[in-house]
Amino acid sequence: MSAPRQTLDGVTEETLDPADWDCVRALSHQVLDDAVDYLCKVRERPVWRDMPAAVRDFFSSALPRSPVPLGDVYREVASKVMPYPMGNIHPRFWSWYMGSSNYTGAVGDFLAAIQGSNLGGGNHAAALMDQQVIDWFKEMMGFPATASGTLVSGGSMANIIALTVARNTKAGVDIREQGVGALDKPLRFYGSDQLHSCHRKAMEVLGLGNLALRRIPTDSGLRIDLTALRAAIAEDRAAGFRPACVIGTAGTVNTGAIDDLQALASLAADEDLWFHVDGCIGAFLAISRQSGHRVAGIERADSVALDPHKWLHSPFEAGCALVRDAAAHRGTFAVTPEYLESTPRGLASGVWLHDYGLQTSRGFRALKIWMAIKENGIDKFGRLIDQNIEQARYLGALIEAEPLMELVAPISINIVCFRYRSSGLGSEELKLLNTEIMLRLQEEGTAAVSDTTVRGEHCLRVAINNHRTRRGDVELLIRETLRLGSEIVNESATH
Ligand SMILES: *Cc1c(COP(=O)(O)O)cnc(C)c1O
Repeated sequence: MSAPRQTLDGVTEETLDPADWDCVRALSHQVLDDAVDYLCKVRERPVWRDMPAAVRDFFSSALPRSPVPLGDVYREVASKVMPYPMGNIHPRFWSWYMGSSNYTGAVGDFLAAIQGSNLGGGNHAAALMDQQVIDWFKEMMGFPATASGTLVSGGSMANIIALTVARNTKAGVDIREQGVGALDKPLRFYGSDQLHSCHRKAMEVLGLGNLALRRIPTDSGLRIDLTALRAAIAEDRAAGFRPACVIGTAGTVNTGAIDDLQALASLAADEDLWFHVDGCIGAFLAISRQSGHRVAGIERADSVALDPHKWLHSPFEAGCALVRDAAAHRGTFAVTPEYLESTPRGLASGVWLHDYGLQTSRGFRALKIWMAIKENGIDKFGRLIDQNIEQARYLGALIEAEPLMELVAPISINIVCFRYRSSGLGSEELKLLNTEIMLRLQEEGTAAVSDTTVRGEHCLRVAINNHRTRRGDVELLIRETLRLGSEIVNESATH
């Protein structure tokens, strides 16, 4: 806390800087020590635990009017926030699809905030680093050096950015000036029935509407059915629509299925469609020696959405949209207001990074990504991806060897859909039983798994996108699922 300062002519001036830097330095050392302890002991804590009422109530405390010493503020955070995490940095967190963060990335986030630069653009080192990270991602995806890209909050934003460029490029009218009302024919986008929900949101905010996104059925491996896709495009053309874009998914959120990207690239070229790849889950397979072939064809895409906060484990948030045609990308978003004109030299002489997306002010997301890649080398991230795929296969093998458990969908990469079964139970009862297993696994702090429905079958779902997971964790999941399954079956038998 700082004391107000009096100037010679008696004006009082304040700042947010501390009055006593030594005090802040000591506290910061404490925070750092606690943070390192927190991370190195993560395995010893429960994955998740619910908050007691006192903790919940704490978050309805009144707007602070008067100061509180930073040490006290920190103690509140240490006691009320840090012990009740979502849990995704824990080795047995496998719900939905998250990354497990990393210490170096956290240091990067801290330093980014300390430097405090605004990555809207300009001539400074952080802006160059932002572009270097984009260059690295282009190289990983096999994109040409002339392509462009932008770091955004996550995969949803990355997909929206890319689909906006697709819409504007394929519209046939000047959408920026005239809006979607000027379209001579309604646009159609295509993706599989396994598409992530963010594409629906994208279609809605792009003014095209959910119905303009046709969901194409999938084959037995839950990949887009190419024959059905061709038929849908032909049908739409005949009916007076303008087919504009096909979205391939490299790793679906339900099961990790990877569409045939080579075939989609060729089909998009034949049909003159924009080819976008939602690579939020699987695009980074491209850096793995064993699995890179699974996403062959991604280098032919017009745009790719990447999610570094998933398989690169960047602390939230970090997503990235890459666009092959940099002019189309910039042409979709660039607006140069008079207060943001470039100058030949000086601070405003750099690239205006805000010309490649929707944000004007942008955080220094690149640093956390850059530091972790630099420290580990990209090959290590490739090995960690393969390690997760191996662990998912191992889990699949354990499930198949277990009479009381079954796989519900084929395992493509690191997502395992399975359920506990018990003879004589119908599908509704199985759903209740498995949901109860899932909730107890969470509440006992053992493991976080989620659930989904694949082709009408409810199942538990484990997505191993976690650099802390070990085989032993997977074995523990099997043991605990079996224990809870029989416990719950017995409970309902005695009631
Ligand atoms: C996670 C995910 C998204 C959305 O990404 P966010 O980073 O959560 O915004 C989009 N598509 C797929 C396939 C995903 O797995």
